[in-house]
Order: sequence, then structure tokens, then C-alpha cells
Amino acid sequence: MTHLLHRSIHGRLPVAVGGKGIHLFDADGKSYIDASGGAAVSCLGHNHPEVQAALHAQLDRLAYAHTSFFTTQVAEELADRLIADAPAALEHVYLVSGGSEAVEAALKMARQYFVEKGEPQRRHIIARRQSYHGNTLGVLATGGNEWRRARFLPLLIETHHIAPCFAYRGQREGESDGDYARRAAGELEAKILELGADQVMAFVAETVVGATAGAVPPVADYFRHIRRICDKYGVLLILDEVMCGMGRTGTLHACEQDGIAPDLMTIAKGLGGGYQPVGAVLLSGRIFEAFAQGSGYFQHGHTYAGHPMAAAASLAVQTILKRDGLLDNVRTMGDALHAGLVQRFADHPHVGDIRGRGLFRAVELVQDRSSKTPFDAGLKLHARIKKEAMARGLMVYPMGGTIDGQNGDHVLIAPPFIVAQTDIAAIVERLGDAVDAALVSF
Ligand code: PMP
Repeated sequence: MTHLLHRSIHGRLPVAVGGKGIHLFDADGKSYIDASGGAAVSCLGHNHPEVQAALHAQLDRLAYAHTSFFTTQVAEELADRLIADAPAALEHVYLVSGGSEAVEAALKMARQYFVEKGEPQRRHIIARRQSYHGNTLGVLATGGNEWRRARFLPLLIETHHIAPCFAYRGQREGESDGDYARRAAGELEAKILELGADQVMAFVAETVVGATAGAVPPVADYFRHIRRICDKYGVLLILDEVMCGMGRTGTLHACEQDGIAPDLMTIAKGLGGGYQPVGAVLLSGRIFEAFAQGSGYFQHGHTYAGHPMAAAASLAVQTILKRDGLLDNVRTMGDALHAGLVQRFADHPHVGDIRGRGLFRAVELVQDRSSKTPFDAGLKLHARIKKEAMARGLMVYPMGGTIDGQNGDHVLIAPPFIVAQTDIAAIVERLGDAVDAALVSF
């Protein structure tokens, strides 16, 4: 019996002992293609020698200094780099240790902003169903994944949820993208008016939805409408790009493709590529100014905020991504992955949708394609696919179809940005075999 508590108490996991590029190795000597980057984390692949060297160098200099006493050069440099490449409205960086911490901090920034501005009545958070913003209590309340929330409901702060922009499930027969974008965004305006326009603090959304619904991009213009509605009512827009950001969709920030910038943006996974736990909030100048002219500080803090090792890993990863032009590869290989998935699954009787952007793709599995009826959640198709994929030396990220009792199981595919055409072919082939093997017993 292990003393280490993993998420699942039952079942034996392979022991990871090494990695190289897009591969991970277990203690039995088996090799896995990491086609999910863990959970869309490992953007540079594993054991990159230059990131390892940067970490060794930082460790030799200094591992830790608390931010209430010191700043460090490496954290300052990282912040400069992030802002140089961010949308113009975003001017400052707050470093934390992961995605949940980043979204928690962004929510508290939004709240403090309105307190500083003399609008303390603004307290409502609006988010979307079928979204995920993390597992700590504040952001679990924000997320709209019913399954993840259910057990903890009595502990969760009140949050208001509207429908996501999810073309496969939400767009009506014959409805144009433009009309759907307006209708889906219109839910935000209706909710703001219902709650009272001067009572709403922030709208939170993943630019491209990750863990809960599986690489769901918005339709064109959805976020332009959202931005306009937020501006109209003075509501802050928080985009959670913890999973879809930092190059995953083919641009550094996913929202670049939607032609808007948020007031607060959260990033994490691809920021440090898994070499250290790290996350960040990028915030606009006006939020910073409200703090600067108000209480003079942001009332928050974690022991490991701005950790030098995390900053060193992030700076190295981001420097290499840029130097090696890896976003070009994300776009090219993303198209190749999409084409491969379409070729393998377009005629598959149980694949209802193939979607995503860049190297952030998903297939959604359904019992019946014409009615889009999901498989019974109790069958745990996603878990079967994961097991079959692991048996074939493939890591993908399947999730259950329990959301609002509506979605099908899906498989998220998010390989490192260094993936090559031959890897894509192997990923699609192994995934196809795993899906068919998982379905055989039904
Ligand atoms: N937001 C999004 C969009 C995420 O995908 C995740 C992690 N899957 C989180 C927040 C939480 O990040 P972490 O697990 O690092 O706390």
C-alpha cells in the first residue's frame, strides 16, 4: 500500500522515471508518447537540456527569497518578457504557483479594484457552465463543472453561470455563426441586468475551453460582443488562459485570435512547461493604478509567489519558444493533427465532433451521431480510452461526459510544441486503435 494519496485511491499507476522530448518512460522501461503534455503543460517536451541548465544555474545562485523582503532579477526579467509580448492593455504581472492560485488572485484583484474605486457593492461573479477554473474553493465556485462542484456545494461562494459558447452543442439548426455569437454573448448582458448592472464585478471565461468540455473554441466575434458588454456595464473581463494560453492555440495568447484583450488574464501550464509549478496574472494598467492610488498594495500573497526557480524555468521556456519559432510549429502541426483526426474519425460512428485550435484539439464521442446523444456516463468510456491508450504507449487526456448531463465523453490532445509530422501520425494511429478498443465491449 502506498502512503502517497493520488486522486484515485484504487489502481496502480506506472512509475515515471525519465523523459526525453515528447516521450516519458516508466520504471518497467516502457515509453509513452506524451500527446497531452500531461494536462496541456509540457509545451517544450521533457528534459530540455537548456531549461535544466537554467534551473541548475538559478539553484547555484539562489533558490528562494520571500517577496515581502526582496525582488529578484529573474522574476523581474520574466515579467518584462511577459508584458513585452502581451496585449497592450496588460501592463503588470503577478506571479503565483499554479492555475488555481492565478484565478483566485485575479478574482481578488477584481474585487479590490472596485473597493479602491469606491464601488464596494460590485461583488457578483458571472462565469459559464462547462468551464473549469481550478480546484480551490473560490475558483471551484467560479467553474461551471457540475460534477466537480457537487460534493462541495455547501462550501462554495455564490457565482452566476451562463451558457458557454459551444457550437457543436449550442448552435441551433440553420443559425449563422454571427447570430449564435450574439445570442450566446447576449446571455451575459441579460445576467448583468438581472443582477443589477452596478452590482457585477467580473465575467470569467476560458478563451478556449479546456478540461471540462474539450478544446472548445468560441465562434467568431463571440468575445468581441463579450468585451463590448463588459465595457458597457463597467464589468471586468477575466480571461482564464491557464490551459489554452502561452502558445497552445498557435498564438501566444488565445484571445489574440479573437481580436480582444481582457482586463485580467491568467496563465500557468505552458508558462513553465512543467519544469516548475508556476502561474501568473497579467493585469491592466488601470487596475494597477487603482491599487497604487488606493491602498498602495494588493492585499494578497503566497509564501512561494515569485519563486526564483519557477521564474527561471519560465524565462528559459519562454526564451526557447520564441528563439526556436515554435509557435509556427504549433500552427503547422496543429493543422496536421486536425487533418489526421478528421481522416481517422470523420466517418467514425461514435465521433460527433472534432475541434480545437493549434495543438489544442479534442474529439467528442457520442452514442448516436445524429441526435448527439452521449454514452451513459456510468460506462466511463473516457477511462476506458485512457487505459487503452496507455497500454499502447500513448498519453491523451480523456474526460467524462457528465456535464449538465449533456456532453459526450471527449479526448483532449495537446502534445508538446516540438512535435513532428511522424509523431502526429503515430498519435492519431494509436488514438484510433485505443478508441476502437474501448468501444468494442459496448
Ligand atoms: N484554469 C484552467 C482553465 C485550467 O485548465 C486549470 C487546470 N486544468 C486551472 C485553472 C487550475 O490550474 P491548477 O491545476 O494549476 O491549479
